Amino acid sequence: MKTQPTFAHAPESPLLAHIEETLFSGEQIATRVTELGAEISRDYMGLDPLLVGVLRGVAVFIGDLVRAIPAPLDLDFIAISSYGTATRSSGVVRILKDLDENITGRHVLVVEDIIDTGLTLSYLMRQLLERRPASVEICTLLDKPARRLAEVPVKYVGFTIPDKFVVGYGLDYAQKYRNLPFLGVLKPEVYSR
Ligand code: 5GP
Repeated sequence: MKTQPTFAHAPESPLLAHIEETLFSGEQIATRVTELGAEISRDYMGLDPLLVGVLRGVAVFIGDLVRAIPAPLDLDFIAISSYGTATRSSGVVRILKDLDENITGRHVLVVEDIIDTGLTLSYLMRQLLERRPASVEICTLLDKPARRLAEVPVKYVGFTIPDKFVVGYGLDYAQKYRNLPFLGVLKPEVYSR
């Protein structure tokens, strides 16, 4: 059954008219993020991990995730641009903002919003491995395995989803919809017009 998209205290938000269906409600996301945080905390206790958020889509997820991890950790961000069409990446990637921390010898956990073809992350993993971290693992909120072109070893997955274009909870289309408090599918007519 399809859930109607909602926006806390603002059912009249114009953004909602562009949403076809809700994939995961804010409550469902919160439950899953708490589980991920507990798992990561168990695995990294005593390792002082460095969580690396890949901007900008990860901003909302990583804010909730770090607050669900009771183990000591450090936080850093990297911004990359991936060339392609608005809804498909090409795998040609450029670092727009590099990490501030030196990751040599660190236990790094890369945190992503969504893995689609895997091209962006496989490029990023190669770049990070050249810096000789003690370990690098990947945590993604969403995994879309149907269109994978590059193998990426993903250790933590929030939700596995079908090949649909998803927005909300940090994920955008043309920089909009990041502030939706749920994950929804954008109506195709919004990005095909
Ligand atoms: P990949 O290189 O794995 O194909 O693409 C990863 C990037 O493409 C994500 O970080 C995200 O920016 C974008 N992307 C892929 N699928 C979606 C989607 O369904 N919704 C949104 N908003 N972005 C997506």
